[in-house]
Amino acid sequence: MTRHKKQEIAYIKGVGPGRAEAFEKLGLKYNTDLFTIYPRLYLVNTTIRSLKDHLETNVIIRGKVIEKYIPWKPKQPTKIAIFDGTASIETLMWGNAKYREKQFKIGEEYLFWGKVTFNTFEREIKLDIRDHKKCDAGDDDLMKYPLIPIYILSEELKKTWIRPLSLTKIIFNALRSGSSEVPEVLSGSIREANDLLDHRTAMLRTHYPHSHDDIERARQTLAFEELFYLQLVMALKKRAALDGEKGISFRKLGENFEKLFKELLGFELTVAQKRVIREIRADMLAGKPMNRLLQGDVGSGKTIVAVFCILIAIENGYQAAFMCPTEILAEQHYKTLKGYFDLLGINSVILVGGQKKKFRELVLQQIKSGDAKVVVGTHALIQESVEFSNLGFVVIDEQHKFGVMQRAKLRAKGTNPDVLVMTATPIPRTLSLTVYGDLEVSVIDELPKNRIAVKTAMRFEDDRNKVYAFIREQVKAGRQVYIVYPVIDESEKNDLKSAVKHYELLKSFTFKDLRLGLVHGRLAWNEIDETIESFKDGKIDILVSTTVIEVGIDIPNATIMVIEEAQRFGLSQLHQLRGRVGRGAEQSFCILMAETPGEIASERLKIMCETTDGFLISETDMKLRGPGEFFGTRQSGELRFSAADLGKDMALIEKARKAAFDMVLADPEIRKLENAVIRENFLINYKDSMSLIRIA
Ligand code: ADP
Ligand code: MG
Repeated sequence: MTRHKKQEIAYIKGVGPGRAEAFEKLGLKYNTDLFTIYPRLYLVNTTIRSLKDHLETNVIIRGKVIEKYIPWKPKQPTKIAIFDGTASIETLMWGNAKYREKQFKIGEEYLFWGKVTFNTFEREIKLDIRDHKKCDAGDDDLMKYPLIPIYILSEELKKTWIRPLSLTKIIFNALRSGSSEVPEVLSGSIREANDLLDHRTAMLRTHYPHSHDDIERARQTLAFEELFYLQLVMALKKRAALDGEKGISFRKLGENFEKLFKELLGFELTVAQKRVIREIRADMLAGKPMNRLLQGDVGSGKTIVAVFCILIAIENGYQAAFMCPTEILAEQHYKTLKGYFDLLGINSVILVGGQKKKFRELVLQQIKSGDAKVVVGTHALIQESVEFSNLGFVVIDEQHKFGVMQRAKLRAKGTNPDVLVMTATPIPRTLSLTVYGDLEVSVIDELPKNRIAVKTAMRFEDDRNKVYAFIREQVKAGRQVYIVYPVIDESEKNDLKSAVKHYELLKSFTFKDLRLGLVHGRLAWNEIDETIESFKDGKIDILVSTTVIEVGIDIPNATIMVIEEAQRFGLSQLHQLRGRVGRGAEQSFCILMAETPGEIASERLKIMCETTDGFLISETDMKLRGPGEFFGTRQSGELRFSAADLGKDMALIEKARKAAFDMVLADPEIRKLENAVIRENFLINYKDSMSLIRIA
């Protein structure tokens, strides 16, 4: 097997120590690391005469500056005329005039990256210059290619005054010195079965493509490779979980299970709920640690499923833990769970931050002694001071908030307990395969029968009085209302409606005769909890809030959800908010208020009005926003794929997953000769990433 000719980036022409340091901060140390950067776009290499054939395209031309007009006022644009032997073009350059004066010399040759547009008013072709550089000897080499890649400049590199075109040259220099020995990363049989290029060819065609077809074909190979290794990590994790360790076999179903099922539950479980309980039960019975994801739309009844499974664990002599992402959720779930467990004479406790020390000690004591059978809490549960006597079952209410590490920590509090992860936001299959690919999946694909679909409508400022009248009418009929605002306070940066201000206004004027409550994220959780309790008890008619009520709150008598500035929310968030109503037997309504929705926003709001299917909504959301955004900005860095595009590569993900799982099945230790390439690449590049796949 050949090794790459590794050379430190610092020694590549055009880099130097300062930039080398910036590259290293980005995790790029050797020339070969640069090959893995995926181009952001490609410039069409053309001439001034042919610009008209490339409207709305990014192009690169090489030409001499033949004239320049430096304006008197420094803020006005500099005009330069460029001639490339085929034709000439004038173009405006913004920026400090003095600087431009020095930057361009008449008669000198430059490379220009620009976007070609057609100005309908002046009826002429324009070139909007994005970047340029003075020509030097190496540019002949660059300009040999019909398409020239442009790479992403991160902040770190921008600090070193590197320009996009210079970065391209650096990468080309790196390729020249080291591309001959790039090793293969997949086995021949996998490449053949999936119709892929070899790695080196794909890499070269990505950086030096001859056509757009070339680019796509190469991208498919590189994307497959990325996805394959991601899925290989999943497959290996899954295998480790399956064979490696012995788990608990929960044999008994027990009296309490029967009792809850037959006597205490006020409703009949749906077919889907029964099915997933059976799936989970089968896992629990098997002597291997369970790792299962429970997906289900808002209101599909995941909590009660968890309750039944926790019961099985308890009846077999174990403790169960239920971890939630926020204190409010922990409090809400605790109350629900306690409601059931008290009836069965089972002791449950709650552990969250901010509890009084004495109380906390007592709770910790009960957890340690095993008196507490069910422990509900936040990440307070994974602190060192928490010791369980006999933890056998773990429920993690994810809402995408916990990482693999945190899951692992909670799990380590027991001896290979079974783990059930619940997600409230249905995630598109592409994402669940990549993010939760090491988990078995159960889906509740049915809502309880008593549900009536929430009626959703878009309303604008002009309708405000009608909306208020409708709220009043519903309150009179005994219903309750949520009004959600995008921000807590008004700020100078945006003029969004705020919860605090509008709570005051509504309370003092519009609904002065009704009972209003206010919750938002700056209040202490027990204050929030108190208000939510009053709302639950019917002592509040209208709950004004921010998105703190987004998940987990279950108040069936609340039937109206008004979302102010609805255009500001993501689809999945709107869906979650809407999920707070429609939980009882009465018809519920969701009113999306917007002043004048923009294009994408109104597309989003329209989808909300058309469907209540959470899976469809999240699929659309991901398409509109991209997978990174989909999880919120905080998490976006975690799903960094370069060649792969989670939005459109579903088929590729499935293929890569199959290839990885099949390989691990046939060769669990990756020992076979034909898989040596994969083994080596995995050990070099992916071993640490066993913990990389996380989203918090
Ligand atoms: P989610 O899946 O959003 O977490 P919950 O578990 O909070 O949903 O359940 C929503 C509401 O539906 C709760 O009030 C719960 O008691 C009720 N519920 C759950 N299952 C059923 C069912 N099979 N029939 C009727 N109501 C149900
Ligand atoms: Mg829930």
